[in-house]
Amino acid sequence: MRKPIVLGNWKLNGSTASSEALVAGILAGVTGLDAIDVGVCPSFVLIPQTVRQVAHTDLKVGAQDCSEYVEGAYTAEVSAAMLRDVGCQYVLIGHSERRALFGERDEVIARKVGRALAAGLMPVLCVGETLEERQAGHMNEVVCAQVQAVIDEVGVAAFDRIVIAYEPVWAIGTGLTASPEQAQAMHATIRGLIAGLNEPVARTLRIQYGGSVKPDNAAELFSQPDIDGGLIGGASLKAEDFLIICRAAADSLGTV
Ligand code: PEP
Repeated sequence: MRKPIVLGNWKLNGSTASSEALVAGILAGVTGLDAIDVGVCPSFVLIPQTVRQVAHTDLKVGAQDCSEYVEGAYTAEVSAAMLRDVGCQYVLIGHSERRALFGERDEVIARKVGRALAAGLMPVLCVGETLEERQAGHMNEVVCAQVQAVIDEVGVAAFDRIVIAYEPVWAIGTGLTASPEQAQAMHATIRGLIAGLNEPVARTLRIQYGGSVKPDNAAELFSQPDIDGGLIGGASLKAEDFLIICRAAADSLGTV
């Protein structure tokens, strides 16, 4: 059985004080959730204080991006090794906001996944189609091409150390959610792509769903057989909502 994973993507939000309060709220309710992995992904500057705050707890910390470079004259970049050094365990790579707003292409994203793996981080590879691509019926080929670019770079066997987050772009921050059936169909497609190359890796690969997951829709999404938890944006900024979503992921273990 795959261990569900729920991560909060805080994006460009939070101060030292507000993130301390948010983490305290999550820590107060996260006990008893050891059947799943739970983590938060603050902005770079808030990572060290968050790592200190979660020390000796099961709450994990991730970053929202890393550099495709290792070191050198790359002003403002943050390397995967630096993130590991300050205590991160996960790093989001290829979030649709990075792809759309910062021009990140599949090849750059694939290189970043390679850097994260080399540094001992678990990359969370974000993939997803736009509304136009879905309406044109191209969603499977778009998402499979995004995954294939990473397979080409790091090899399919490395997916035993990678999490995939399927996040339809049209569902991120919009209040629109993929139906459980739409999400399940895409998760099965992704798992099928990996299975065609390496069946054991496909069986253990965790594929999160992300896109307007809220307390009231999490349980139904997470009860789908190929959905292994969620990547949560807006609802991860409220400890109470985030904890309800985490609990839904833990409860899903009894239903699949
Ligand atoms: C995200 O940014 O990864 C995300 C899923 O955001 P939201 O939950 O707000 O749609």
